[in-house]
Amino acid sequence: MKRLLFFLANYRFRLAVIFLTIAISTFLYFGVATYQGLSVELPQLALGELRTAMLSVKGRIESRMEDGTELQTAANDVFSQALDRRFHARAYDRRGNVVASTSSLPGNPATFSAAMYGQEVESTLVVPPGNVRYLLTATPLRVRGEIVGAVELALSLQDVDRTLAVIYPRLVLGVILSVVAIFAAAMYVGGNLTRIIGELEVAARAIAQGHFDQRIVATSTDELGQLARTINYMASELQRLSAVRAEFLSKVSHELRTPLTIIKGFTVSMLREAASPTRRRQLEVVDSQVDHLTGLVEDLLDLSRLDAGTLRLRRELMDLVRISREAVDVTKPKAQMRDITINFRAGAPSIEALGDPHRVKQIIDNLLDNALKHTEPGGRVTVEVTARNSEAVIKVADTGLGIPRESLPYVFDRFYQVYSQRKAGAGLGLAVVKELTEAHGGRVEVESEFGVGSTFTVVLPIPASLK
Ligand code: ADP
Repeated sequence: MKRLLFFLANYRFRLAVIFLTIAISTFLYFGVATYQGLSVELPQLALGELRTAMLSVKGRIESRMEDGTELQTAANDVFSQALDRRFHARAYDRRGNVVASTSSLPGNPATFSAAMYGQEVESTLVVPPGNVRYLLTATPLRVRGEIVGAVELALSLQDVDRTLAVIYPRLVLGVILSVVAIFAAAMYVGGNLTRIIGELEVAARAIAQGHFDQRIVATSTDELGQLARTINYMASELQRLSAVRAEFLSKVSHELRTPLTIIKGFTVSMLREAASPTRRRQLEVVDSQVDHLTGLVEDLLDLSRLDAGTLRLRRELMDLVRISREAVDVTKPKAQMRDITINFRAGAPSIEALGDPHRVKQIIDNLLDNALKHTEPGGRVTVEVTARNSEAVIKVADTGLGIPRESLPYVFDRFYQVYSQRKAGAGLGLAVVKELTEAHGGRVEVESEFGVGSTFTVVLPIPASLK
């Protein structure tokens, strides 16, 4: 049942089933109608022929007898001179004796009797051993109004039956061949359609996933070709809009950077000179807000550089254990202030990879920052660096709030926030983490249970030469 439903859900098979149903019913109808028509019409033609022959034979015998010729002589003459050899003829006298015959067929007393009562008889005779069918007709002979005997004519239906026997298998074969051909055609057309639709679907999915440079090769001018061109147009529009957005973000972040640096500089110097505690507190708020904004602008700039491919990553030997330990050490005071325990574990004294140490530190800082932000006092954050096969694995785990299952697929998307109202941020941190990791040829994964904690895992490749 499930398999049947699968086939019916498949466009190709649905098309084939529809075609087949139409083909089978049409051909069956025409096949049966043709066969039946022929099997009725052909005997009818033979019957017509038989009737005509009978009229002629009867007329000739009667006219000869009216001229005084004996029945036997008249019948024999007419049978031999005026009758096609395909007909079987027999003449009876008034008592039922056969007086002339060209027939080897068995006699038929009932036919004769009926004819002697003045009736025209028509019937079908089946003669063994070959069960050959004959059309039989008998009619009374009248001379001056008096019945003087009867004549019986029979015509074999062997030719008709032979023709039908030849036509029947041809009709069946024709129906089977047409059905097979139509099934094959439906599968071919359906297969072509599903292939093209499949290609369109793959391309549309890729575009939906942000691969705006995806294009479909559309050569046909039909509706599917038109659809492909429309999808291509949509992709190029998305590509253009995405470029406009990237340029806008890049320009805005560049423009914001300089004033922020100036504000930061002045705030720091004013903080140094602040006389009253109130003024100091106010300036500290300004300072932390400027830091927050600067972080945001830096994230935006990084993302726009990553988009444009202008972010230059150094490719140098770096020790991931050292980088991670330093990041943890820097974070420790902040964690202590919030009563969060922070642990560091390394699988080896040093784990080396190739990359930009500054950017890898940025990745770990972002993850640590998030872990601290989402962990309640009394909680624990653990950073672990290990190596397996040709990969280095950095895990940042917390016993914090966790992320709801439905949000997990989106946490690495730009501007996506799970707790937008609760924590300040712009939803860019994890997007930067993901893209920086990928720019290093690595990948980042998240596991999280709501209310239990989250673990972010960054996997970076270790080149074979370093193993
Ligand atoms: P933001 O800068 O706003 O924190 P991120 O990109 O860093 O944005 O994170 C995206 C979302 O994922 C945030 O809304 C945040 O709530 C959630 N998130 C990130 N890290 C954690 C974590 N360790 N525990 C729980 N939620 C997290």
